[in-house]
Amino acid sequence: MPTKRILICSTPVGPLGSGVGGGVELTLHSLVLGLSGRGHHVEVVAPEGSLHVGARVHQIPGSYQVSSQTESRDAAIAMPPSPVLGAMWEWVRLHQQHYDIVLNLAYDWLPWFLTPFLQVPVAHLVSMASVNDAMDVALTELVVARPGSVAVHSFAQAETFPAVTERLRVLGNGIAVERYDLHATADEPRTLGFIGRISPEKGIDDVFAVAAATGLTVKAWGLMQHPSCWQAAQAAFPTASVSYEGFLPTDELQFAIGGCAAVLMTPKWVEAFGNVAIEAMACGVPVIAYRRGGPAEIVIDGETGFLVEPDDVAGLVDAVRRLSEIDRAVCRQQVVERYSTDAMAMRVDAWFDDLIRSNRRADASS
Ligand code: UDP
Repeated sequence: MPTKRILICSTPVGPLGSGVGGGVELTLHSLVLGLSGRGHHVEVVAPEGSLHVGARVHQIPGSYQVSSQTESRDAAIAMPPSPVLGAMWEWVRLHQQHYDIVLNLAYDWLPWFLTPFLQVPVAHLVSMASVNDAMDVALTELVVARPGSVAVHSFAQAETFPAVTERLRVLGNGIAVERYDLHATADEPRTLGFIGRISPEKGIDDVFAVAAATGLTVKAWGLMQHPSCWQAAQAAFPTASVSYEGFLPTDELQFAIGGCAAVLMTPKWVEAFGNVAIEAMACGVPVIAYRRGGPAEIVIDGETGFLVEPDDVAGLVDAVRRLSEIDRAVCRQQVVERYSTDAMAMRVDAWFDDLIRSNRRADASS
């Protein structure tokens, strides 16, 4: 396929660089690098105030969406006054003729609903597992209306949408491995790491439990989205040594986490992928994760970390004791082979080609 003109639409929950977009921000950055590296022309539409990401960013003003992970299952679809989401897709509508394909990274109803009304093919990379009934219905309708247009990051994530599981393309994810250095040995004294938003679904309380049980210090990096979660965990485990290290930009984060003996992933929800797993592994840091969601498809038990039954804190503690069995170079090698920006961009590019072809066929037959 020849060079494509690709427009990537970011999440409307906040500007790129704010951290509110969680893994979507890193995914977008990796896709810009990987797809540009394959010779494509890439531009981005994102809320005003977004950081430079190596491609032209069209900055759109407006009010942010509330993150869907904080909504209940039966919540209605909602938008604030003057939504940035609406303004971003109005921009897409007005400029669509300049692009061969639009990639939507927002987990939002509006772009899913609007897709059949646009002329340009729109590919949707869904960043979360099922969290809301109205969104599930919208996703099913989109998959029926535009077969092949929806992809997810993991098989576990696809299974949370039972009506369409088999019709979702599973792409994994990718990071710029060259921006992460292998730390061949862990720092002494040993510390553990936690990387993620401080929010109920990320399970910081189990991290405090591990710190208390092992006597090891855990360093936590990430956006302090729900301080009450942190305070509750502190109150429940007063002897735990867990230090909050703030939210760092990627380069500083990779440098900071490299010395950890392991990174803990204790999600309470089906993590769609878990970018932090591949970021840790790229630094040579093994991952100890619950066997739940994306991390269970990334971590090879006993080789690049350990998988523990969900919510089994004693299992996490046992895994910490077995860390000497893990070869840190193997952790990094896995990321080089499966999760580089090149590997991810190749999978995404093949998906785009299929979608553009099937849109042409549909246009020709209509
Ligand atoms: N992150 C960061 N700085 C920090 C902590 C986290 O940039 O101090 C980023 C991290 O690189 C990752 C994202 O936050 O890309 C979290 O993504 P993940 O897929 O693990 O979870 P999500 O927040 O999307 O649920």
